[in-house]
Amino acid sequence: MKNYDVIIVGAGPGGIFAAYELMEAAPELRVAVFEAGHALDKRKCPIDGEKIKSCINCKTCSIMSGFGGAGAFSDGKYNITNNFGGTLYEYIGKKRALELMRYVDEINLKYGGEGTKLYTTAGSRFKTICIQHDLHLLDASVRHLGTDINFIVLENLYAHLKDKIDFYFDTPIISVVRAENGYKVISKDAEYNCTDCIISVGRSGSKWMETVCKELDISTESTRVDIGVRVELPAAVFAHLTDELYESKIAYRTEKYGDKVRTFCMNPKGAVVNENTNGIITVNGHSYEDPAKQTENTNFALLVSKHFSEPFKDSNGYGESIARLSNMLGGGVIVQRFGDLIRGKRSTQSRIDEAFITPTLNATPGDLSLVLPKRILDGIIEMIYALDKVAPGTANEDTLLYGVEVKFYNMEVAVDENLQSNHKGLYIIGDGSGITHSLSHASASGVHVARNIAGKN
Ligand SMILES: Cc1cc2nc3c(=O)[nH]c(=O)nc-3n(C[C@H](O)[C@H](O)[C@H](O)COP(=O)(O)OP(=O)(O)OC[C@H]3O[C@@H](n4cnc5c(N)ncnc54)[C@H](O)[C@@H]3O)c2cc1C
Repeated sequence: MKNYDVIIVGAGPGGIFAAYELMEAAPELRVAVFEAGHALDKRKCPIDGEKIKSCINCKTCSIMSGFGGAGAFSDGKYNITNNFGGTLYEYIGKKRALELMRYVDEINLKYGGEGTKLYTTAGSRFKTICIQHDLHLLDASVRHLGTDINFIVLENLYAHLKDKIDFYFDTPIISVVRAENGYKVISKDAEYNCTDCIISVGRSGSKWMETVCKELDISTESTRVDIGVRVELPAAVFAHLTDELYESKIAYRTEKYGDKVRTFCMNPKGAVVNENTNGIITVNGHSYEDPAKQTENTNFALLVSKHFSEPFKDSNGYGESIARLSNMLGGGVIVQRFGDLIRGKRSTQSRIDEAFITPTLNATPGDLSLVLPKRILDGIIEMIYALDKVAPGTANEDTLLYGVEVKFYNMEVAVDENLQSNHKGLYIIGDGSGITHSLSHASASGVHVARNIAGKN
């Protein structure tokens, strides 16, 4: 049995930044990182658009798992804000959360992100234009690394860490149990001891996280899920906003039901992609910094938040059921023209082919009204018309809607201001804790815990 001072489970941004900061603040510590997925250079999604056109449910999904976590092929948008991306500030304070996000940004620049652009909403004239149409532009700074530079940063961080830390890839951890002086971390073939254990298993580890919490009697809560569609339109429609802000987070309250709808994950000149969460295929998007890899389209999600109260406790189960419906009808993701949706018609391949926009994802033409609950669909349609006032063309007939996009929130795990559970030395960070939902917040949570373990907080 091997002994470590600290074991980190999960090599997503949360785990990587915890490892990085431990080496900065306490290089004498013996640290190991266990990751269910592959090393970065072995991560490859088999979908090539020719032989393999849709998800074949690999044993470990290379999009979601491996060094870099769910963020490895993401757009690499590091938002520096407390307005969205998680509620880390509720635990560590707004000032500290922002400080840590800026620190993470500095490291990203140092390891390959230098020269990438930092966009900001501060002083933007679009704030006024939005509010005149009852749309609310949220304040944020966003560093756009792009999928390509994000990957280089990860390569460089791995090169920096690999000789200082033991990395175990393709090694899912099966359980974490209390031991005499800390924790026993158990994989299929071996057991490892540690004094402190940091669990950072993200969304793909959400089911496992639930088991750990049950076994160790850690309280959890799950009440929220965001459901919606990914919108794809010609990049020119949003160019006036994206050229200046890159990502604009715009919120809207519907007239009909008073529900909040918001834009999420905007990818100028980007591509729409499949996402596989525990075997359920949903939709997401990304874009490249390199102009040669950019497309003529911009995509973003429109999401409606659903909060449940007693007695219903399984908000993610609700989102999964809706996503399963789209998978059942379309064999994966469904795409529909906005014009067809409004007229109550299913989109067909010929209507998609005749459209003035070329879809960037090969999805099944279908009817989203058979999938999304009326209230959610009404909210999305209302917001599309509202956005049409600040970005004319959003409500065009040919605007493509891909469904469904579901933003699963991991159940929120009970932790204190050090992100420590009710067990001393057991920390739960990143998206797996339910506290963060973004690259920047997950990474900042890793730095926070590492400094605490190193006694530097
Ligand atoms: C396509 C896509 C695009 C995105 N774009 C953006 C973006 O531009 N900006 C943004 O802020 N966010 C984005 N996100 C979200 C962002 O990637 C996540 O918020 C972030 O990666 C969370 O980091 P994490 O370390 O908490 O978890 P993850 O990145 O999910 O990493 C967790 C790791 O733990 C591993 N793991 C799970 N269970 C176990 C186990 N039992 N044993 C060992 N290892 C385990 C997983 O394999 C995974 O590698 C995107 C997500 C996707 C999927």
